[in-house]
Amino acid sequence: MDTEKLVIADNRVVAMNYTLSDSEGTVIDQSDQGSPLLYLHGHQNIVPGLERELTGMKAGESKLVVVSPEEGYGTREEEMVLKVPLSELPSDLKPEVGMTIGMETEQGHTVPVRIAQVAADHVQLDANHELAGITLHFDISIEEVRDASEEELTHGHVHGPGGHHH
Ligand code: ZN
Repeated sequence: MDTEKLVIADNRVVAMNYTLSDSEGTVIDQSDQGSPLLYLHGHQNIVPGLERELTGMKAGESKLVVVSPEEGYGTREEEMVLKVPLSELPSDLKPEVGMTIGMETEQGHTVPVRIAQVAADHVQLDANHELAGITLHFDISIEEVRDASEEELTHGHVHGPGGHHH
């Protein structure tokens, strides 16, 4: 089986090395040395702007992909930043900047929010995604492209090394 020639398309598993930087060139995230990220293409496992740009690429190819916040992790919404009195937080919680806590919405769902600031009598909670509002610069190199298994397609994600184990 010659998997080298497969192009990236829906329902294929892609192994890629990546470095994600912001517009200033500061590295935000990268794949671990020797263990590329695996994802199932066409199943929204990665941000839409990146998924679209990778379509049609082959193993051995590299690309620099710039993704706007709209096609990345969304724009920052200031109404998603809330000031909450310390008295409304669980009494056993010691709030620290960067900590993520669950907050109940008016609809009764629990959503993760980040503690952005801690003051004497209140905290500032930020429900925006950590990378919201950021233009993403992905430096990508494609390591392998293969067809997904039936099971992977049913689950909507990759199994085995670099993927889900269950
Ligand atoms: Zn699974």
